[in-house]
Amino acid sequence: MEKQKSPDIGVIKELLNQKKNMKFFLSVCVGCGMCAESCFLYVNNQKDPSYMPSFKVINSLGRMYKKKGELTMEELGEIKSLVWEKCVLCTRCHCPMGISIPAMIAWARTICRSQGISREYGSDE
Ligand code: SF4
Ligand code: SF4
Repeated sequence: MEKQKSPDIGVIKELLNQKKNMKFFLSVCVGCGMCAESCFLYVNNQKDPSYMPSFKVINSLGRMYKKKGELTMEELGEIKSLVWEKCVLCTRCHCPMGISIPAMIAWARTICRSQGISREYGSDE
């Protein structure tokens, strides 16, 4: 698959708008870190903060919302690393605020895929 040169910002914005509830949920994350211990990848990777569920969602979908969808392919590549390499969507993480981390990471994957970026066809050389 040929690598896409630049993201289609309009498509990214539209996909972000389809899940406005996720933007709301991101805003209610209080950064308490309680979700961390329920993620086996965080526990099994010496509690590396980049494996914390909240870190992964804030720096993937959260980053997309923060930039209002105006992302570069390089940024989408960085997000790809988080959402595929640091999460397996096992749905075991628990947030007392009711935030569904896997649903948001899955949606970040969908947005990446809309731009030709995925685990299979990644933007990396
Ligand atoms: S996702 Fe939930 S448990 Fe994790 S830091 Fe945010 S509020 Fe706390
Ligand atoms: S869904 Fe992702 S963040 Fe949640 S426990 Fe599983 S690997 Fe960790």
